[in-house]
Amino acid sequence: MIFTELEISDVRFPTSRSLDGSDAMNPDPDYSAAYVVLRTDVGDGHEGHGFAFTIGRGNDVQAAAIASLRPYVVGRPVATVLADLGGFWRELVHDSQLRWLGPEKGVMHMAIAAVVNALWDLRAKREGLPVWRLLSRLSPEELVDLVDFRYLDDALTREEALQLLRAAQPGRAEREEHLLRAGYPAYTTSPGWLGYDDEKLRRLCKEAVADGFGQIKLKVGADLADDVRRMTIARQACGPDFPIAVDANQRWDVPTAIRWMRELARFDPHWIEEPTSPDDLLGHATIARELAPMRVATGEHVANRVVFKQLLQLDAISYLQIDATRVAGVNENVAILLLAAKFGVPVCPHAGGVGLCELVQHLAMFDYVAVSGEMTDRVIEYVDHLHEHFVDPVVIRDGRYVAPVAPGFSTTIRPRTLAEYAYPHGRVWSGAAPAEEAVGGTPEPGRPGPEMAS
Ligand SMILES: [Mg+2]
Repeated sequence: MIFTELEISDVRFPTSRSLDGSDAMNPDPDYSAAYVVLRTDVGDGHEGHGFAFTIGRGNDVQAAAIASLRPYVVGRPVATVLADLGGFWRELVHDSQLRWLGPEKGVMHMAIAAVVNALWDLRAKREGLPVWRLLSRLSPEELVDLVDFRYLDDALTREEALQLLRAAQPGRAEREEHLLRAGYPAYTTSPGWLGYDDEKLRRLCKEAVADGFGQIKLKVGADLADDVRRMTIARQACGPDFPIAVDANQRWDVPTAIRWMRELARFDPHWIEEPTSPDDLLGHATIARELAPMRVATGEHVANRVVFKQLLQLDAISYLQIDATRVAGVNENVAILLLAAKFGVPVCPHAGGVGLCELVQHLAMFDYVAVSGEMTDRVIEYVDHLHEHFVDPVVIRDGRYVAPVAPGFSTTIRPRTLAEYAYPHGRVWSGAAPAEEAVGGTPEPGRPGPEMAS
């Protein structure tokens, strides 16, 4: 039984047509997925679905990168590949010619994420488990076999990782039950988009608190006077102790970040996210040191486990924000979760975009059950859009992610969506549909429409 097909779709949502919010660095995103379907001749009806998230132009480049991985998959025995996803990951990442394009970063690394995540989706469907539960039931030895410890040993050895995982083994069943009963805390970014007027900001802040969210996040960084005014409104609306994080989306250089956040410190921000370039590790460390005890968070644009390792070694972040499709899929995120556990830094995943909430919930839940064993001071980002395009969308109840129970990785996009939003010939892009219909339905009154990168 072999893989017969690696099908790729360029799917784009024209979210830039109907913006009602923005962040300073991403003015016109069309939320997009370079989408993969793996087919086999096993005859059980299961397919593996995965994708890389991009914001429009370049999604065709992303799709071409995925296509370059086709020879690694098509014709290979299904059972052999799925039984050794650690070995398969190393094969893809260590292709010497493709590796030149990174190494281990950017378009090629995200292409590997799409394929690796599709393989995890297929394996989980075949085993009848959601990915978080599948990972949570692997032995410590099986989990470390997923990880490439090359470049990590000075911070985390295979033996240390095994010890961490063994230490978390006793409570696994109890924590899995707790997740199924109580879910995982979420925070919402919806109130804080830069383009909202003051009244809308105030109303959405109050709604977020009333809806049971334990934290919100505001975009900052375009204009300091605006940020002061908006933080005043949010603080009044949410109350003095309510966690309000802020996110600069890489807008500042280091001195500006320090100066700006000193002005906002009086509002007690829960964290400052992406204050500067994700490649400026020493800059993050300087900002963290100068602004302490204010906490710094980053990760959605961090290229790989090696960069995360250094951020942790430098004591540059207080919260680590994994992303499900930026690094090379589940395997590399297992490595990053282990690093975070070793350094005792809480993981608060980045989500939003297309399907990032759907995927990353599995990784946070696995972390709680089998790695850190902790849920305290941890939240998964939630952004309320594009979920209707997924077969198994996330469910939020009382401000918490409900643990998914359907087998797989929650990656499957509805076939009709794949057809209608296909770029450039799908109905939505060929001009046949009005813009409002094209973005997946008019936002309900009082709810935000399609938004910006989170
Ligand atoms: Mg962000």
